[in-house]
Amino acid sequence: MNPDLMERRGAAVEPREIEQEGEAHLRIAWGDGRECRYSAPALRRVCPCAQCVNEWTGERTLRAGMISNDLTIEDVQLVGRYALTFKWSDDHQTGIYSFRLLREFCEQQT
Ligand SMILES: [Zn+2]
Repeated sequence: MNPDLMERRGAAVEPREIEQEGEAHLRIAWGDGRECRYSAPALRRVCPCAQCVNEWTGERTLRAGMISNDLTIEDVQLVGRYALTFKWSDDHQTGIYSFRLLREFCEQQT
């Protein structure tokens, strides 16, 4: 992992604004001023739940091709003060996306 990311805490992993844009996008403005935009299929493909990632080996069992490019967000909720959880249009809803994961995913995309 990039050591920059491991060092990062505080404002960089605290969302200032979380907004769903249309049916298939999410925008997060972070405390350090960075803005990230996510598409529903891309987020669904990195779902960290036990159905999508083998808990013991950490290997991703979910294949990207199993997720439709037309996937949409049916619902998004805060989990405490550290994460988001989504209900996707494929009925999957067990993933807890910590803000740290969302921030790291955003930086890997660019
Ligand atoms: Zn999952």
